[in-house]
Amino acid sequence: MDIIVNINSSSDIKKLTKKIALYKFIYKNKKLKLKYSRTLDRKTKYELETFEKAFNLKTKKERLAYIYDRTYDFIANNYVETNFCEFENDQCINQRIKNCKNKNGCCGECKYLKNKRCSINALSCKLYFCSYINKNKKAIKIKDISFANCFFTIRQKIIVSLSVFQPREKMLDILHSNSLILWYIKTSINNDK
Ligand code: SF4
Ligand code: SF4
Repeated sequence: MDIIVNINSSSDIKKLTKKIALYKFIYKNKKLKLKYSRTLDRKTKYELETFEKAFNLKTKKERLAYIYDRTYDFIANNYVETNFCEFENDQCINQRIKNCKNKNGCCGECKYLKNKRCSINALSCKLYFCSYINKNKKAIKIKDISFANCFFTIRQKIIVSLSVFQPREKMLDILHSNSLILWYIKTSINNDK
């Protein structure tokens, strides 16, 4: 039988995040079904869809890759939709305030920047913000994204927060190992950035 959970409010989501670890332990082979109103906002629906699908993926690798991608898309979409760094003519607010000639914000001349997008889906870069943003705006953190906060382990959260310029595939390998030692070795050696 499926595990059916009704979600009617944000406190239900909080309760769900607390129970997921227990569900994974007790109902490992069961399917999670979340019942929620279609009138919920897009962001909340995205979170709930992610919880449901991540729980129902039964291999660690698949789940990790899925959570990585959904977290990356969540931040990237929010970043673009709200023009979070207040880009104008390819310059972000920090560059404009400082009267820099540089363009493309933090990505600058990065070799992975292709058609104004990160070609390697570097999640850690998406969590990096300059001092201007940290001082003047509420920058998104892993703990603010319910499914990422719930499905990444503490060590994975540390790794994600420290690994700028690292390609998705390399990050998934390191995250799968859940090892800070492997993270250190892999990001110190052969780091071509
Ligand atoms: S984090 Fe700061 S420097 Fe980076 S793109 Fe945003 S405003 Fe610009
Ligand atoms: S690796 Fe980082 S700096 Fe380079 S394009 Fe991607 S997000 Fe930008």
